[in-house]
Amino acid sequence: MAVNEAIYKELTGSFSKKDVTLVAVSKTKPDEDIRALYDLGQRDFGENYVQEIIEKHARLPRDIRWHFIGHLQTNKVKYLAPFIYMIHGIDSFKLLKEVNKQASRCGRIIPVLLQVHIAREDTKFGLDENELKALLLQAGELGHIVIKGLMGMASFTSDAQAVRSEFRYLRSLYDQLLTTHHLPLTTLSMGMSGDYRIAVQEGSNMVRIGSLLFGARS
Ligand SMILES: *Cc1c(COP(=O)(O)O)cnc(C)c1O
Repeated sequence: MAVNEAIYKELTGSFSKKDVTLVAVSKTKPDEDIRALYDLGQRDFGENYVQEIIEKHARLPRDIRWHFIGHLQTNKVKYLAPFIYMIHGIDSFKLLKEVNKQASRCGRIIPVLLQVHIAREDTKFGLDENELKALLLQAGELGHIVIKGLMGMASFTSDAQAVRSEFRYLRSLYDQLLTTHHLPLTTLSMGMSGDYRIAVQEGSNMVRIGSLLFGARS
């Protein structure tokens, strides 16, 4: 399965003008596909499965920035802590505390994003607004994590207006944290293959794109 080079160039061309970071989501895809994008200059890659990201990290170039974008169990954090560049899916204080503990053991400070539940479906993980604010109050005591921003996934629907309003809601939370709570956030991670255009229009500065670049997953 080949990487879509034309789409990659088109995406990176338009994203670089807008200061949007592309995370290439390579879950289930072979090393050769990752290397193909790496050779074109891509350095940020996203994975969902702990075992897979560990193995790929061991085999692939050291300067790849590995993003963990899946649902993370607390007992797996220790495997990621030595090398992970950013963890996108923090959705509880328990998990955040464990990341802090394992980062401390490695002598690291790990950048994280808090995942907010914005979709109508209740199948997707994430914090609601109250949980988010409660977690931010508790997080102050943790010295080995740094909260860089928010991450969210919109509903899986062809209703573009619904998707837009979900992204807009996440953007408004992000802005609130910046302006009212004065948090030094930098990253709003929203948008995937099917909805990244809307996400960027609504203020995303980090998109996570898999199938558009690598082809459909089986
Ligand atoms: C798989 C995945 C993506 C990429 O999905 P595509 O539709 O293939 O672009 C983005 N974000 C998360 C959290 C994912 O699990």
